[in-house]
Amino acid sequence: MTRKDFRVALVGLDGITNDIILKTLTHTTKLPAMTNIVKHCSLIKNLASTTPYITPVSWASISTGIDMSQIGIFDFFIYKITHNKIQVEPVKASHIRAPRLWDVLAKKYKTFNIVVNVPPFYPAEPIRGIMVAGFPAPKLSAWPPYVMNLLRKYEYKVYVNTEALELKSTELVNELIDVVYSRTLFTIELLKRVDWNFLFIVYLAPDTIMHKYGKFIYRYLFKDTKRGVSRKYFMYMVSILSIIDKLLRELLELCDVIILISDHGNIPVEREIFINELLLRIGTLKVKRVNRDTMTHFMKWNIFKLYSKILRNIGSIDIGASLKLINRMLLRIQSISHEMIDVEKSNAFAVGTIQPCTILITRSSMSRRVLKAFDDMRILNKKIIKKDFPKGNINGKWRIYVLEANEGFVFNPLRIGALSAPSIRQCDHSKNCMFIAWNKDDVINTEKSPITITHIFDYVIELFKINM
Ligand SMILES: [Zn+2]
Repeated sequence: MTRKDFRVALVGLDGITNDIILKTLTHTTKLPAMTNIVKHCSLIKNLASTTPYITPVSWASISTGIDMSQIGIFDFFIYKITHNKIQVEPVKASHIRAPRLWDVLAKKYKTFNIVVNVPPFYPAEPIRGIMVAGFPAPKLSAWPPYVMNLLRKYEYKVYVNTEALELKSTELVNELIDVVYSRTLFTIELLKRVDWNFLFIVYLAPDTIMHKYGKFIYRYLFKDTKRGVSRKYFMYMVSILSIIDKLLRELLELCDVIILISDHGNIPVEREIFINELLLRIGTLKVKRVNRDTMTHFMKWNIFKLYSKILRNIGSIDIGASLKLINRMLLRIQSISHEMIDVEKSNAFAVGTIQPCTILITRSSMSRRVLKAFDDMRILNKKIIKKDFPKGNINGKWRIYVLEANEGFVFNPLRIGALSAPSIRQCDHSKNCMFIAWNKDDVINTEKSPITITHIFDYVIELFKINM
């Protein structure tokens, strides 16, 4: 039987794994809808993420069915290297040159789609349905434009205001609750207002909570430390999930299929690898030292330029927020860094955000030597060879490698160079993703279940093919 009102919801909980959800449900009664979904689901699987397993790469891969790292998106940023400096541009919708799941569904099955906060689709694109741009959008962006009014009504926020991990516990949790609450109420109203077939919504708050308190949450859930601080942090997670539970309660009424997914998991961080410092020690990275007196001014200017460029590229017009961000960065670098990577004189350097994977750029002629040095240190789980460096006018031939650290380790490439940040993460990403599928009347094909997150794309299309 096929129906025009067939409905599927993909609910993304960033950074969460099945084991965390299952254990959480045994420790609380505050998540009735989620309990219902898990108890009566037809499929529960651990899916493999893409490598690198990082938010924008993984959600874009889920949304297109194509592993983004295969087409050169490895991070929150796209890097271009010129003779002597590294240029950074945030990943946005136009970089993802592949058909989106919602567009394919609309074309094939005339579905009406609601897409809320799928990273890194910014700005919102004209789709058959309603779209609110995803993190890290610098400001609200929605399609069709009239949706902006509804967003304002609920004081919808893309994300917490400042660098979340630096906030105090209560501040952070309150801000996250705010963001999750407004996103949930906004979406529930949409679900009731329009005739829809496909919902794709992503919540980032679980990942933020895991980065900051994951180690404690693990301890509470898996090591039976029942009291004290661990329980407190666990309850932060429950507070966030219990708001999302309100949406799930509505979806149980409205949907034929609900699929809970994540883009990666989180595991406790044991050690941070300052990869550019290692390269400095092996002698393949050279730094430009900046005179301490002139440093502040020089660095300020460079950071200012970098950040204005980033803000321009992502189209921020929120001057207040932008200045605040720039100001924070300026204050930070004054106390930390007076060295920059000298691209021209270096043979290898790493770029990227802090995560278990990193992007290593080496001169082709030197790559063997550099990789051998890493093998000798026994910090690598694996290395994925990428092609020659695509663009830029750096001297000679360069090659990209994506390195993955051993479990529990993260790479921090930021210790040398203008952007410098000591990490305050308790947990960081793992390759393991959640996949829990619930359905009303046996419409799920359990045989063709996905193995990696890039299969979710075909899986959802198949659901509509059979039922609509
Ligand atoms: Zn993520």
